[in-house]
Amino acid sequence: MIILPENRIAELITRADAFEAIEKVFASMAKGSAYNFPVIREAIGHADALYGFKSGFDRANLHLGLKSGGYWPGNEAKGLTNHQSTVFLFDADSGRCSAVVGGNLLTALRTAAAAAISVRYLARPDAKVLGMIGAGHQSVFQLRAVAEQRDFERVVAWNRDPARLDRLEKAATEAGLPFERVSLDELGAAADVIVTITSSFAPILMDAQVKPGTHVACMGTDTKGKQEVEAVLVARASVFTDEVAQAISIGESQHAVAEGRKQEAEIAVLGAVINGDHPGRRSDDEVTLFDGTGVGLQDLAVAAAAVDLALAKGVALEVEF
Ligand code: NAD
Repeated sequence: MIILPENRIAELITRADAFEAIEKVFASMAKGSAYNFPVIREAIGHADALYGFKSGFDRANLHLGLKSGGYWPGNEAKGLTNHQSTVFLFDADSGRCSAVVGGNLLTALRTAAAAAISVRYLARPDAKVLGMIGAGHQSVFQLRAVAEQRDFERVVAWNRDPARLDRLEKAATEAGLPFERVSLDELGAAADVIVTITSSFAPILMDAQVKPGTHVACMGTDTKGKQEVEAVLVARASVFTDEVAQAISIGESQHAVAEGRKQEAEIAVLGAVINGDHPGRRSDDEVTLFDGTGVGLQDLAVAAAAVDLALAKGVALEVEF
């Protein structure tokens, strides 16, 4: 069995590796050769923690396993990350555990890769302005990955607490992009691509603020009740997702579907665009929206990629198990 501790992940896997792994698994899901098992998530009644696991099987790439973890709000005070996760991979032929992989950085990389893939396949080719909503832990990963997908000329950003935009500004500067703090009206008027990555339970971005032709990647909503954009915007947009069942139950689409503004059958999977079975964006004026809910198969894909890279570089820690 291979063990890959959290502190080894950064040196092993690049954004490009994560992009390739997630693109492959989205394609596999759309072909029906990979599927996610039902998600378990429980308030455990100890340390205010939410604990659960996401699991699945990708028959095409033989990735079987689960990501286990959750949210411990008291961790920050102990110098630990609040979100904790570990990926367990199993040999699909024998059921034996083949790897245990630290999942914290991988979660950020796979989530950013999903947004980046949506931008690669759905944003207008001439997109110049990137709009960021949210400035938490995930936001810098999102900015770095998405910024690589088009010839962006600047970043405009909004956060509920503007003081927290500093780290996003640093990431934009590192990517060689001028950075501007703006209102939501200004952000929508300027941005050709918008990423939302917040923990909001009420719409932040309104339909009227989004201009025709924009691509919106909604990445924060991954729980029932969360919401980042107005349901009317979801109704107006051509919606793509990682998994339709999650989009309508815990994703950004849950509200538009519950209100009858959007039908489940109107929501396409991004993997179908990757496979060439869906045309994706059909016109320059169309608003496209990626509802990135985050699936277990993404975690397995990046963990397996990290294990392969560790083996190829001869740095994998192997134990008898
Ligand atoms: P974080 O706690 O570091 O940052 C939270 C961000 O949300 C901050 O910018 C904060 O200002 C903003 N925010 C919180 N409540 C808000 C409100 N009511 N209105 C406006 N803004 C608000 O969190 P993070 O690690 O950056 O994660 C952000 C979100 O992404 C979380 O909700 C998390 O569950 C979700 N997430 C999704 C995936 C996925 O695959 N889709 C993966 C990882 C995390």
